[in-house]
Amino acid sequence: MQVLFGGTFDPVHDGHVAMVEQLRVTFPSATIQVIPNSRPPHRNSEVSATHRLEMVHLAMGHLKGIKINRIEFERSGPSYTIDTLNVLREQFGKDESFVLVLGADAISKMDIWYKPMTVPLLCNVCILNRAGENIGIPSVLAEMNEIVDGALLDNTPSGSLIRLQTPDVFVSSTLVRSLIARGAKQLPVPPNVADYIVKYDLYQDPE
Ligand code: ATP
Repeated sequence: MQVLFGGTFDPVHDGHVAMVEQLRVTFPSATIQVIPNSRPPHRNSEVSATHRLEMVHLAMGHLKGIKINRIEFERSGPSYTIDTLNVLREQFGKDESFVLVLGADAISKMDIWYKPMTVPLLCNVCILNRAGENIGIPSVLAEMNEIVDGALLDNTPSGSLIRLQTPDVFVSSTLVRSLIARGAKQLPVPPNVADYIVKYDLYQDPE
């Protein structure tokens, strides 16, 4: 079973780490693949993909059961999730269970994705609570089979949807960037990520 947690991680923060910890508890037999995008399709990142990837390694590289996957760095052009799912499907075969993890904010934007209709055919979907966001299921996922027991996904390659009752963590990369721009000394990121941000003088210019 492969649990796929993608993002821009601009920068990675305590909320991401808390969600990965939660995923390890919910899907104990899975590999949690953390997949930083190289070129986010619908936004610009504030710092280079190399810096973002390095910070993800610092934050999560030591965690058991986690694989930081550079798959989106291996192709040029926008990092479309559908393309990543197709490549992983070729690598793992049709019977492997895939669980695509998305926060409630990310799921609400799925209708504007590239080829979103293919998501239910390629993977299962796991929705995380996002503090302050309502969870609306986008129309492209309306036909998915909603389940409550994550263990059922072990033998289900695709087509099911699960909502995780994750604790609210009021942290976003946007918040971290604005705290840095305002000169805050305490940041809701792992200490080694905070040191890295200082070392390379990242996010100093307000957006
Ligand atoms: P930004 O503020 O720049 O939009 P972000 O904090 O949402 O960034 P991303 O890298 O875009 O970070 O998020 C990657 C994934 O992690 C997304 O699916 C997002 O919904 C989820 N996520 C990020 N922060 C949290 C959090 N605090 N709680 C739950 N899910 C989160």
